[in-house]
Amino acid sequence: MRVLITGAAGFIGSNLTNFINQQEPEWQVRGLDDLSNGDLDNLRGLDAEMIVGSLLDEDALARAVRGVDAVVHLGALGSVPRSIGNPLATHHANATGTLMLLEAARHAGVAHVIAASSSSVYGTNSASPKNEAHWTNPVSPYAVSKLATEGYTVAYALSYGMRTLALRFFNVYGRRQSIGHAYAAVIPQFIGRVRAGNPLLVYGDGQQSRDFTHVDSVCSVLLSALRRRTTDTRPVNVAFGSSTTINELISVLEDAAGRRFDREHLPDRTGDVRASKADAVRLRELFPEIEPVPLRDGVLDTWRWFEAQDPNRVG
Ligand code: NAD
Repeated sequence: MRVLITGAAGFIGSNLTNFINQQEPEWQVRGLDDLSNGDLDNLRGLDAEMIVGSLLDEDALARAVRGVDAVVHLGALGSVPRSIGNPLATHHANATGTLMLLEAARHAGVAHVIAASSSSVYGTNSASPKNEAHWTNPVSPYAVSKLATEGYTVAYALSYGMRTLALRFFNVYGRRQSIGHAYAAVIPQFIGRVRAGNPLLVYGDGQQSRDFTHVDSVCSVLLSALRRRTTDTRPVNVAFGSSTTINELISVLEDAAGRRFDREHLPDRTGDVRASKADAVRLRELFPEIEPVPLRDGVLDTWRWFEAQDPNRVG
């Protein structure tokens, strides 16, 4: 199988490249990434043909989709705060970029497209756990762009008969996640602060909760979906129904590190949701064989991986 991974130089994309190299060594991986947030270092030692180019560039897209059997579309500008700072850039990369990718895939006759959406689409819906039939009401431009991503992906199945699958990732964490920039996700951001000798920054009371999902669990879902060409005309949650508060997460990290960390409390952050937990019924129906990596194991693995990195690169 020939697979195109957009956003291959990013966190989930590089982990998926590694996962496919290991589990399906006969498959050929091609990556498309404009390196706006990714790093070719993430792919060092991995087997992938890289095209450095943008989802917004028709020529790069045409080259990227040529001859591939499936696309895993991960390329996007992540982060709620980034999108609040620059909503147009997020819209272009995530909404327009997805539409352009789907058009390129349709014209090239690609058999299967899987695209990454986000739990952020639920927005102000406070239902817990959140299932895919619940209404969406995005709070941030990022979440709107992800609603567009999944909307277009499903529409291409319904309008053109393409096999597509839109997956709502929750809080994914693990090796190779960006650590050293303003938009880092909470786990790598905490690890970066500790490594730099700074206190952890906790927004609000730290009782906000998330359904943290280890990147290997996400890669298992993606690989299984690729193998079986899974398609669905509704987006599917990708998280296993766990709920961990930021305060609990800090304890798990402290256990992994074997020491306690200083904390500094800041006001609540605009656009953040209070509780985010997936209803995983649909996920388990589609992928009954997949057992998630437990949080403690995943955090320990992540901590150790970052500890082994050059502090200048990740600090
Ligand atoms: P990431 O930033 O590490 O990876 C995204 C990659 O896309 C980066 O390498 C970036 O350079 C690339 N990219 C951005 N704009 C591009 C463009 N115009 N053309 C080509 N490449 C471009 O992020 P990630 O955490 O690996 O996320 C992957 C996908 O999963 C994204 O679509 C994201 O929205 C989604 N997602 C992630 C999480 C999470 O917790 N990490 C949660 C929900 C959804």
